This record gives sequence, C-alpha cells and structure tokens, in this order.
Amino acid sequence: MKAMGPVPADFQASADNCLMVGDWRAPDLVAEQGGTPLFAYDKAVITERVRRFRAAMPDAVKLHYAVKANPFPDLLQTLAPLVDGFDLASWKEMTLAQEVAGRDFPLSFAGPGKPDFAPDGEQAMGVTVNLESEGEFERFVHGGSNRFAVRVNPPFGLKGSGMKMGGLASPFGVDHDRVPALVRRILEAGAEWRGLHVYAGSQSLSAAAIIESQRATVALAAEIAEAVGVTPPEVNLGGGFGIPYFAGDDSLDIVAVGAALRETLDQRPAILRDTRFVIELGRWLVGECGIYLTRVVDRKVSRGKTFLVVDGGLHHMLAASGNFGQLLRRNYPVAVAGRFGSEPEEEVSVVGCLCTPLDILADEVMLPRAEVGDLIAIFCAGAYGLTASPQAFLSQKAAREVVV
Ligand SMILES: *Cc1c(COP(=O)(O)O)cnc(C)c1O
Repeated sequence: MKAMGPVPADFQASADNCLMVGDWRAPDLVAEQGGTPLFAYDKAVITERVRRFRAAMPDAVKLHYAVKANPFPDLLQTLAPLVDGFDLASWKEMTLAQEVAGRDFPLSFAGPGKPDFAPDGEQAMGVTVNLESEGEFERFVHGGSNRFAVRVNPPFGLKGSGMKMGGLASPFGVDHDRVPALVRRILEAGAEWRGLHVYAGSQSLSAAAIIESQRATVALAAEIAEAVGVTPPEVNLGGGFGIPYFAGDDSLDIVAVGAALRETLDQRPAILRDTRFVIELGRWLVGECGIYLTRVVDRKVSRGKTFLVVDGGLHHMLAASGNFGQLLRRNYPVAVAGRFGSEPEEEVSVVGCLCTPLDILADEVMLPRAEVGDLIAIFCAGAYGLTASPQAFLSQKAAREVVV
C-alpha cells in the first residue's frame, strides 16, 4: 500500500455518500455536463481562498492571479472581480484575459521569448511588460511599448520550493546587479517604469522560507531603487505559495506569512514608502478548487494486483502521473466519488487509458470498492491540469471543464 495526499477539507459528502462539488452530487454534475472526463472547479473554494488571503495580508498588498495555472475562461471570469490583476505569459492568455476582464484591467506579461506586440499589437499597449533581458527592452521599446517593469534575477532563491529559481544563471529576469542600469535606460527613453518583479520560486509550504524570501525581496528592491535614485511605483514580491499534494504535506500557514509581511513593510526603507506591493499566485488560489472526474471502464487483476482502468489519464492530468517535473512519483489525493467518506476496502492502482506504462493516476492506494461505471475523483486538479498536459498524445477523447 502507498499513501496518498490529503483530500482538501473543502469537499463534503451528500447524504447518500456522494462527493459534492458546489451544489452538485458528482454523478449528477457529470451527467449534466455530458460525461467524463470532466474537470469541475468549485467557485466557493476560490472565493474562500481569496477571503483568506485578504484577511491575512496587509491591506496595501495587491493580489494578482497567474493565468498560466489555469486559463479556463469561466475561471478567469470568476477570478476577475476577486483579484487586482492578471499576470500573463503568452499572447493567447492576454487575449483571454482582455476578453474576460477588459483592457483596463491591470495586466502584466512575463516570460522569456515574448511575442512582438507590434505592428498589430495595439491591444497590448496598456499591458506592463516584465522585462526578462536588456535585449527585450530594445525590442519592445522600438515596437512601441511604453510600460515596463524589470524582472530581477535575485541573488537568492525560495528555499525548499518545488522549482528552484533565483541565485542561479537563469533565462528569467535580469541579474540583480545589472538592473539599475536597465532602469536608467527605461527612464532615459521616456518610457513608464512600473517597477520591479522578483519571482524566487514556486510550491513552497514553508512559511519561514516565504517570509525570508519576501524580506530579502523588499531589501533588494530598496537597494536597486537607491542605486537608481527613484521610487518604484510597484514591487511584485512573487508568490510561491504551495498547496498540499502528497502524504505528509501540510497547508501553508498564510496567517504567519501575512503577519511577517506586515512587519517587513512597516519597517521598509524610506525609498519604498510610496511603493505598491503585489503578490502573484496561481496554484494556491485555484489548485484545490479543481477535481478531475474520470470513469472506470475496466477492472482487472494481474498477478495479484487490482487495476481500475479509467477513461481519462495523463493526457489531461500529467502532474498526477508524476511526470510534470517530479523527481519521485507520489500519489495525489483520490476518491471513489460515489463512496466519498466510506472506509477504504481494497488496494488498487488507477491507470489511465493511454497505451503507455507512464499513465498511472494512483498507485497501490486503499479505496472503497469501485466497479466499472463508477467515478474516480482526483483532487488538486485546479492548477496545472488540462493545459499543462499533453492533450493530443494518443488522440483520446477531450476533457470537459466547468465552473460550479
Ligand atoms: C508560474 C508563475 C507563477 C505562478 O506560480 P504558482 O506556483 O502557480 O503560484 C507566478 N509568477 C510567475 C512569474 C510564474 O512564472
């Protein structure tokens, strides 16, 4: 038997023991949506995350949503009134964000290898370009862009984060000691300097590590501002707030992060007195709202091991198969949707329908008994699910998505 991650506490069972998603029994929702595989995103869970963020953080801290975590338009529609801006990493994300939130909504565009905004890029002109290099500044200022922030490659990283960034040679951001010179070039070109962006890492469950990284970021921003002699209108402190995916993971203590950030900002150097601060989050906002529902199409026993074969797979939920940057395969939280809250009865492996041994969604987990036709729910599917998976691989049925 292998352990699985914790089922998010937001989800309850109906009187007849079915997983509830919003006001829906999972089987009813699947029927209403026309079948499986289905990603269901629970709006109430997102609203609660945002409420928790606002309660914990100092009022002066703005909240942005990193669209790459999940760009599903109905989800963006849900988030737009709840957050203070969207962070984008592609032209398509920008178009979606503008369709949903309008051109006046605060948008910033980060990432290496950005597409040119000109000559047909009029729609992009209000977007803040988070520069990843000096070359990018030349390209965009000649293309007519007028609003720039500088992404800083910091001399530190977010300790223990899922993806190490910072303190290293990097395709992301300008090395911190070259930032003042680039800011001067922006100012000399007569363009608008929106400020600094520091992203030190992702998927951290350690409040201490995030607190330390935020302190270091504020200090670094002050150092750069002093070298230039100008106050940055905005400093984006990054994010990196993680969620529990695996056995032994505990939720991030966001109250502790907020209290420490309040102290850090209260004591900030004078040059940052009029600066706005932003935190950008993807998975912490939407990861736990999402459930991937897939149906058992075969139940087989091979050399004593029971397999539940489902109609979904890693082409929709690559991360649950352990193939999205994980070093070791570990089990996401899973459940039998029609027996939610029942005691586990048997050890099974849930495998997808792709013809590859990589397509394991849950390995040797204890579940209530499931038969052909039953629904399997995979949790923590709201971020880096469908759009972070190789959907075209093996030309299987497409997944549906719905916000409830
Ligand atoms: C990916 C990314 C995020 C979102 O990361 P999460 O782990 O989903 O919160 C935020 N900012 C930048 C610059 C990113 O590249």
